[in-house]
Amino acid sequence: MRRLRNVKIVATLGPASETYDMIRALHEAGADVFRLNMSHGSHEEIREKHRIIRQIEKELSSPIAILADLQGPKLRVGVFANEVEELVDGAAFRLDLNEAAGDVTRVCLPHPEIFAALEPGSTLLVNDGKIRLRVEDCGADFANCVVVNGGTISNRKGVNVPDVVLPLAALSEKDRDDLEFVCGLGVDWLALSFVQRPEDVHEARELAQGRAAILSKIEKPAAVEAFDDILEVSDGIMVARGDLGVELPVSHVPPIQKRLVRKCRFAAKPVIVATQMLESMIESPMPTRAEVSDVSNAIYEGADAIMLSAESAAGHFPIEAVGTMNAVAEEVESDPTYRQIIEASRSAPRSSVADAIVAAAREVAETTEVQAICSFTESGTTALKIARERPRVPIIAMTSLRGTARRLALSWGTNCVMTDELNRFKGAVVAAARAATSHGYAGPEDQIVVTAGLPFNVPGTTNILRVTSCDERLIYNTETE
Ligand code: ATP
Ligand code: MG
Ligand code: MG
Repeated sequence: MRRLRNVKIVATLGPASETYDMIRALHEAGADVFRLNMSHGSHEEIREKHRIIRQIEKELSSPIAILADLQGPKLRVGVFANEVEELVDGAAFRLDLNEAAGDVTRVCLPHPEIFAALEPGSTLLVNDGKIRLRVEDCGADFANCVVVNGGTISNRKGVNVPDVVLPLAALSEKDRDDLEFVCGLGVDWLALSFVQRPEDVHEARELAQGRAAILSKIEKPAAVEAFDDILEVSDGIMVARGDLGVELPVSHVPPIQKRLVRKCRFAAKPVIVATQMLESMIESPMPTRAEVSDVSNAIYEGADAIMLSAESAAGHFPIEAVGTMNAVAEEVESDPTYRQIIEASRSAPRSSVADAIVAAAREVAETTEVQAICSFTESGTTALKIARERPRVPIIAMTSLRGTARRLALSWGTNCVMTDELNRFKGAVVAAARAATSHGYAGPEDQIVVTAGLPFNVPGTTNILRVTSCDERLIYNTETE
């Protein structure tokens, strides 16, 4: 799907978005990446959503990334007989190890280690901090609490215990099982929740064995501290503001977001800004002004992608939420101030041939009338480097590897076109010109920039920059081989 914006949109799928019609409508409205949250829904439901996404991708010949989000060591309540309950301020509410469905007076919290660590006076936060419970008395298998801040509680909502340090393993049994399942299905990105150390990423990477790229969710204070080391070993990052804003004071989140987004761009690794971006659109077709401002801010900061969670998974207006993000993105990116900010925060090129070539490609695009930058990329690295330049013209990533095309769907401004394996430069230039004209990025009389690596099919060799006409007869007359 041709987009008129560079920032990408990630939409979480859930009960409000599980049919073919809905998922297709979300993609057409602007969703480039679908997130499957392994915390919710059975393997069979995940398999079905995966099948539908791949079917739509095939029908529209439009690479779509699937991001499987592993639950990680997140504490969650069990389920309720009525699925949801309303907790009112001052009410008593009990957490225990009893697996029976909960009601307005109690629910299961299937984590004995929490009960061992709690003390009277401890605070428990539910649903990204919206509900606050204070422990009155507790034992090895229960905690009787009082509701300090009430709200709606429903199945499997997350629980944080900010003032208690819990021993957390990076990947639970369930995570390993889920990882194997989704890698078997074929997903493009694996998101790791509650990463704390680079070792957590290594562990997942070993299990994934190259079957998916690894994205670290930054939602623990420890991860913010060890961020440079975590970024180094990750393929992408999510600023997971929900838990981050519970584990740290909320006022710390915006500066952390800005710093992380900037570091990811310098490292040429995609970064997603996530959680509560259009939260009110769960219930309402119109976002608040503050939410629109938050979405624009992330775009002005240069994030690769912005994400919808419950808005698209469980809300009443999933398509409107994607449409809102799309409209805000188009507006922000056509603002001259956006270009100024993006260009002022560009990093100097690194000292490799590929870095110099992509910087030169961007400069050619800025100083001449070329209509697009076409980059031949197998691993995706060159396309990521071009995206880091945040050029003014569209980036067309040409690859023969479907996995690369899908992974790049998360990256700023990258439009992927599948090509056959190439072995001659002339053929590559013709393929690039055809891709640019057939997808509407350039007309036959226009020029484009092409970057490639010769010899072909050797990774990491981008060493050619060619400015070419899109007119195939001219290409045949000028290219020698
Ligand atoms: P995470 O910490 O991984 O973001 P989360 O519980 O916040 O987990 P999100 O994917 O952010 O989950 O979605 C927000 C809410 O939307 C969930 O808490 C849940 O109520 C609902 N939801 C999302 N996906 C599903 C699903 N597949 N089935 C049921 N409810 C879902
Ligand atoms: Mg989270
Ligand atoms: Mg969430």
